[in-house]
Amino acid sequence: MEPLAAKIIYFVGYWLANFVIRAPYIKSHQRVPIRSKLKDRVDHALFLAVGVGGFLIPLLYVFTPLLSFADYSLPLWVGVTATVLLLAGDWLFWRAHKDLGTNWSPTLEIRDQHRLVTQGIYAHIRHPMYSSIWLLVLAQAMILPNYLAGFTGLIPFALLYFLRVGKEEQMMLAEFGAEYEQYLQRTGRLLPKF
Ligand code: SAH
Repeated sequence: MEPLAAKIIYFVGYWLANFVIRAPYIKSHQRVPIRSKLKDRVDHALFLAVGVGGFLIPLLYVFTPLLSFADYSLPLWVGVTATVLLLAGDWLFWRAHKDLGTNWSPTLEIRDQHRLVTQGIYAHIRHPMYSSIWLLVLAQAMILPNYLAGFTGLIPFALLYFLRVGKEEQMMLAEFGAEYEQYLQRTGRLLPKF
């Protein structure tokens, strides 16, 4: 795939997810009061690193020659597959935000009137938003033909996911008890349970 086409496709996909799909939920996140939160500096730092690695480093790669030493070329089919992953990631990101609504938080928090969401995409998958981010960071790695700009989303997100997901489920279990336990039985973490 032409590097210019790959860059444009990546930034459109990223812009859709973070500046169109997520934007209204950031506003409601600031409005709805929070009852309790898990203070975790490593989690907060990794969350920030995913943003820097998913957006700022790719910007540097596109608009400056600083990262050109790490360029390589990718076959067309890899770019096309990445485009499909990016589209699927954007769709799932949208679906998860819509279903989670005001219960969404960028970190691990419980709101005043937190409700356990078990419908929509959440009827099948417990962490569809994380599934969608896996798709987006994998697409980044596959579509940006640069060893640095390609992988700076995937690496911090992999760390964030593996360090966070168990804690999140413990937090939900402590909050919702038997209801969450039953929910755990019938759903998969990232993929539907068959
Ligand atoms: N892990 C989920 C949500 C990510 S947002 C996903 O990947 O789709 C993180 C916040 O969502 C956490 O602070 C938690 O309070 C909330 N959360 C996670 N699962 C939830 C559920 N099933 N219902 C309501 N809130 C949930």
